[in-house]
Amino acid sequence: MIQDIFPHIYHNEYHSHAPKDNDIILVFDGNEVLLKTDDKTMFSFAEIKEQVESETAEYRYLFEIDETAFYYLRNADVTTIQGVSRYSKNIFRTYEPRYLAFAGITAFQLYQWYESHIFCGKCGHTLVPDQKERALYCTHCGEIIYPTICPAVIIGVIDKKKDRILFTKYADRDYKKYALVAGFAEIGETLEDTVRREVKEEVGLSVKNIRYYKNQPWSFTGTLLVGFFAELDGEADITLEEDELKEATWFERKNMPPTENDISLTAEMMEAFRAGKETI
Ligand SMILES: [Zn+2]
Repeated sequence: MIQDIFPHIYHNEYHSHAPKDNDIILVFDGNEVLLKTDDKTMFSFAEIKEQVESETAEYRYLFEIDETAFYYLRNADVTTIQGVSRYSKNIFRTYEPRYLAFAGITAFQLYQWYESHIFCGKCGHTLVPDQKERALYCTHCGEIIYPTICPAVIIGVIDKKKDRILFTKYADRDYKKYALVAGFAEIGETLEDTVRREVKEEVGLSVKNIRYYKNQPWSFTGTLLVGFFAELDGEADITLEEDELKEATWFERKNMPPTENDISLTAEMMEAFRAGKETI
């Protein structure tokens, strides 16, 4: 999965400090990332600092991988940077090397969070980064805002009697491949409640024997995905929630279509079922 970057090590401890020449500076603009045109690599601090106005540019600390710190560039005119091309954040679905794909999309999620929390929601004053932890702080009213992470479940619904699993396709999303039933946790429910509710809402089925599989930070959608397998309870006839899904199809274990990537928990769960490694 995308977060599996061994032998590299992701350090999420908050060690904010000024960048060194070899550190990496991510440059984002809206929903796009700016990478070097010739080889799509990211900028080092040494490369970028020559090209932006040093009086205003801010390098906001994000995290470290191994000995390298990662930052994103703020308050700079990115149109003056030479030799760059713009890419969708989805470039990080296939970016090489893989540990930098994880770094890039994780940086993007943090960048989006910081840039959508400029002002205090309580009193309207400008927020500043906290010095000790990854949070934003209001010097006027004392409010502390932590990064927003949205938990969501992915569910491998299994019909044990017929040895098959339920695949879905979304109705209106960029992602056109097969997925599994999934949805966000709501306030006031456990993740098992979320599993039961989402399966009922999206395909009209009941499930039992809900068992945790694995989880994954999925910064493409700002979520923490939690994977479960669950057993069909009762009838297998599907009632599709057409606003959300355009297809839901049972596939026997022996006749499952190939998975499309090896970065997502969804794909890993599909392959786990194919290999007989489901948790129920
Ligand atoms: Zn405030």
